[in-house]
Amino acid sequence: MNSRAPEESALPASPGDIAATRSVRGEALAVVTDPTGRIQFANPELLRRSGLDWAAVSGKPWFDVFAERARRSALRRAFEQVVTGAQPGPCSAVLRDGNGNEHHIVWVATRSVDATGATVSVTSVGVEVSGAGETSRPAAPGTDRLTGLAGREAFIRRLKNEIEAAHQGGFATALVLVRIDKYTELVITLGDGTGETILRELAGRLTATVANGVVARISGHEFAVLLPRVDTSADAVRMAEELVRVMRAPCGSLPVPVHLTASAGLAVYPHDAASASELMGRAGSALTRAATAGGNRQAAVEAAAGDAPGSRMMMEQQLHGAIARGELTVHYQPLVDATTHNVIGVEALARWNHPMFGDIAPGRFIPVAEQTGLIRTLGLHVLRTALEDAKAWRDAGLAPVTVAVNVSARQLAHPSFVDDVALLLAETSTPSGVLELEVTEGAVMADVEVATVALRHLTERGVGISLDDFGTGYSCIARLDRLSLTAIKIDRTFLRPGTAASEPVAMVRALVALARSLDLRVVAEGVETMDQLRSLEAEGLDLYQGFLFSRPVPAAVIQRLLAEGLPALV
Ligand code: C2E
Ligand code: CA
Ligand code: CA
Repeated sequence: MNSRAPEESALPASPGDIAATRSVRGEALAVVTDPTGRIQFANPELLRRSGLDWAAVSGKPWFDVFAERARRSALRRAFEQVVTGAQPGPCSAVLRDGNGNEHHIVWVATRSVDATGATVSVTSVGVEVSGAGETSRPAAPGTDRLTGLAGREAFIRRLKNEIEAAHQGGFATALVLVRIDKYTELVITLGDGTGETILRELAGRLTATVANGVVARISGHEFAVLLPRVDTSADAVRMAEELVRVMRAPCGSLPVPVHLTASAGLAVYPHDAASASELMGRAGSALTRAATAGGNRQAAVEAAAGDAPGSRMMMEQQLHGAIARGELTVHYQPLVDATTHNVIGVEALARWNHPMFGDIAPGRFIPVAEQTGLIRTLGLHVLRTALEDAKAWRDAGLAPVTVAVNVSARQLAHPSFVDDVALLLAETSTPSGVLELEVTEGAVMADVEVATVALRHLTERGVGISLDDFGTGYSCIARLDRLSLTAIKIDRTFLRPGTAASEPVAMVRALVALARSLDLRVVAEGVETMDQLRSLEAEGLDLYQGFLFSRPVPAAVIQRLLAEGLPALV
């Protein structure tokens, strides 16, 4: 093909979609077409899966051959957008095999352009996801017909039983209520049928996220999640945060990308309530608080007199003085070369050790810092500390490593950010190429114009830019090549057991292909087990990061690791 590297691409399904569907199945499918959609190449897996031979598909429009009738016009529209370089939406479609079985496929499209910028071909990579949009069977008693989840009454019965068991056994049980933000407006805007699609998809995501628990749809667009036998309130808070997070991905089953958010309210028996109805009430008021605070967040039942780390106001006040009191420190997690497993970089991660409450996770205080504007001070503190520590490692004669620092939306949008970074680089005599900044799609898209300029100025100074949590955002990958990126970090949700561990990592493969087409380095985040590592080995990643190699550790420990190397994997 006399074309240049592929240039722009459609957004693949988000991990939320993967979560909704539990797993990615089988090998990737691939089809190459001309700009009108006529098939020039279909890989053997696609032919095998569709039960068609090459003669039957060659030269035909691909969406007419490999998608069900109802989705063809939506796919054609998305395809035409890819061809013109405009922003396309996520694409999912059903592929029927030779035996009439349905396969749910998520497609990622990439165009190749010639020297004049005209599209010469489009490559679409498809992965099969299980479970999405399966035709509904007759509902069992107590089951919500639309989603197949437990209904309100069945859920309350179950909640009462669990509370009784928790009472007998002396353990805690958590209840999380989750509501989709601005649901009514969405349905009014997008029309009939949208609501049902959204509810079904989100029901799937919640079910996939909650390994041990009960998920129910208890009213219109409100879900309830019962987490029996939680060990600590912190575990329950983490789970509520995770539930809000998985709801956030774009809805892949709709023809247009829809950005959803949800709010959650958490209450724990016996700490917050003594009965099922009281627990529902407490979780309900926490939910209202989260929703009225702007949505897209979780709230726990407020602790008495604001004296627990769960209280946001307490956190806000304490955070103000935390840096001055030296409570905020920085830990580092190694990034290792995928081939040699040598440490070639570290990521700086903020840690808050509160004298009374102990370690508070960044997932809890970073959002507060972002909301209050404290993130600027905090971010600069982390940046300065990381650059100073890296200088100390260099001065100690250790092999140079890159140092990655996370940057939030507010930092990136601040007019003096680029100058602040430049000043710190100069003060710490940091050679160019040492510093990498990690930005999320959300942080960039918050003000894409300002962010694009800031990122360009930073790369001009030799600073690397990694796109963090890749695949969890809602923005269009077509814009990525304008962002002066140097690397992407594939979010660890793609490596969850049940996907990466036991299945071929087809989604990772598709994302690697996409990153390659944009000439970016690829990091896999959250590698925890040897099984995950083995399943990733054939995928051609550049770097790994995860607990398997090392947890985030203090600077002194990194210094030792750099001198002695990581212990061998067993
Ligand atoms: P992140 O940037 O995605 O950082 C990676 C997170 O994944 C870290 O969580 C790390 O401990 C965790 N992690 C690494 N390997 C594994 C693994 O194998 N398994 C699992 N389950 N987790 C793994 P951490 O330190 O709790 O940080 C959470 C988030 O807080 C970070 O996510 C980042 O978004 C934010 N954050 C941390 N420090 C800063 C900071 O200085 N500034 C800003 N703006 N955000 C920060
Ligand atoms: Ca990061
Ligand atoms: Ca990340």
